[in-house]
Amino acid sequence: MSPSAVYFDNAATTRVDPHVVDTMLPYFTSDYGNAASRAHIFGWAAEAAVTDARRAIAALIGADEREIVFTSGATESNNLALKGVMEAYADRGDHLVTVATEHPSIADTATALQRAGKRVTTLGVDRSGLVDLNALRDAISGRTVLVSVMAANNETGVLQNLDAIGTICRERHVLFHTDATQAAGKVPLDIELLHVDLMSLSAHKIYGPKGVGALFVRREPRVRVAAQMDGGGHERGMRSGTLNVPGIVGFGAACAICAESLAAESQSVAALRDRLEAALMEACPRSFVNGDAKNRVPGITNIAFPGADGGQLLKQLTERGITVSSGSACSSTSLEPSRVLRALGLSEADARSSLRLSLGRFNTAAEVDFVAAAVIDIVRSSARGTAS
Ligand SMILES: *Cc1c(COP(=O)(O)O)cnc(C)c1O
Repeated sequence: MSPSAVYFDNAATTRVDPHVVDTMLPYFTSDYGNAASRAHIFGWAAEAAVTDARRAIAALIGADEREIVFTSGATESNNLALKGVMEAYADRGDHLVTVATEHPSIADTATALQRAGKRVTTLGVDRSGLVDLNALRDAISGRTVLVSVMAANNETGVLQNLDAIGTICRERHVLFHTDATQAAGKVPLDIELLHVDLMSLSAHKIYGPKGVGALFVRREPRVRVAAQMDGGGHERGMRSGTLNVPGIVGFGAACAICAESLAAESQSVAALRDRLEAALMEACPRSFVNGDAKNRVPGITNIAFPGADGGQLLKQLTERGITVSSGSACSSTSLEPSRVLRALGLSEADARSSLRLSLGRFNTAAEVDFVAAAVIDIVRSSARGTAS
């Protein structure tokens, strides 16, 4: 193992699986047709490849291939879901319900909708990061169109109870969207069992390429989404623009690998995470795991090291060639403590002392031991520093 490249930031993005790359390559140089070209063999080959990918992506979540709308990633899928649904159902109501720990691509979209005159309720979470189902029930009114609750949180890995939330949405006749970017391919997800109407996905969080994602849009009963981009009417009118054929092929291959290896991989990645947590908890007695330790995706742990400074931890780990993320939302330069950890009720100091370590398919036990030793060393010396 080369200590100069230990990557524990798989929640930010993942290495593309070599098999995914191999599958994509022909679609750059030989089968480079436009999937919308209906009149010739180049177009047909591209369209056939896109259809195969659509099937693989739909299969991962129990959907039909005709329910998959390709986008440039989960950020676009989230924008399309929220803006597209609120626009399409403007005659039914103007109210959106979402949660305080959502990814910025949901939170900022909700803010934009509010500025445009929609009403938004942002539900809080408890210390474990979970939404209170009674608060959700109370928030839904006759004017509510859509509830959007993420499947797994990108900072803590905490899994919401989608089944219960979906059931409430069904009972109250409101649509249910989930940002499943961190959960898909890591835990089993089925849009029927969970009563989901719209689901956002991204390829690059599951060992696929960057710049391609999808929005699942339920067909029965049919969910309407107003296009947010005008053009050639691709993707059944919901998302115009020439399809990213190599990216889509890679996304499909990535989903197929996840579907096949999910059971074994979720166990092996969880075992690595548990080994890391056990080592850190034992050596740093004041440390604790942020969020519900049971309902989590396998690869993410978020740990507070009270008394330590997360920014300093991050900097010193970087100097040792270890890549992790601070609790601060997506930005190690931001001085703001993580909005997500603050929503869980952490003090500003504890939020600032927190690190997100996210593991994946390509990490090893040797790397876990190397990272654990480094974190312990840095936390201990910073504790000595504050004591003196
Ligand atoms: C990464 C991420 C996104 C954004 O996905 P992109 O494909 O990078 O736009 C959205 N939601 C969650 C939960 C994420 O982790």
